[in-house]
Amino acid sequence: MKVSDKPVWHLLFQRYCLLMHELYIAESILNSVLDLLPAGITPERVTKVHLSVGQLDAVVSESLIFLFDAIKGTKGLPHAQLAIETIAVLCQCKTCAHQFNLDLPIFICPQCNGSDVILLQGRGISIYRIEAKDD
Ligand SMILES: [Zn+2]
Repeated sequence: MKVSDKPVWHLLFQRYCLLMHELYIAESILNSVLDLLPAGITPERVTKVHLSVGQLDAVVSESLIFLFDAIKGTKGLPHAQLAIETIAVLCQCKTCAHQFNLDLPIFICPQCNGSDVILLQGRGISIYRIEAKDD
């Protein structure tokens, strides 16, 4: 059975690009944590970073956690663990006001088939909580 016409290198390159995307995100999260820490809290005390990730951002949580763990020591946060909450895509139809979740990025209202749809949630990555241990 033929699975794909794409050569293997193309699939490997796709996977490489996704990993680079997640590596960039992991690095950005660590830099943001350092920026957000209040004075008097050293990076070594950070134990957990809570992250919300929109479903549309297409982040593979396992890869992001793996890469975060791989580089956190280089940023001075060796004890930080990453906790990821995925935010489902929620849309609202501007024609009939129906609100609905999306599994695929096809922005069509399931009630009236309208395509004038606004995104209410499901895009964006943000740190919403940082935990640190006491001295
Ligand atoms: Zn509608």
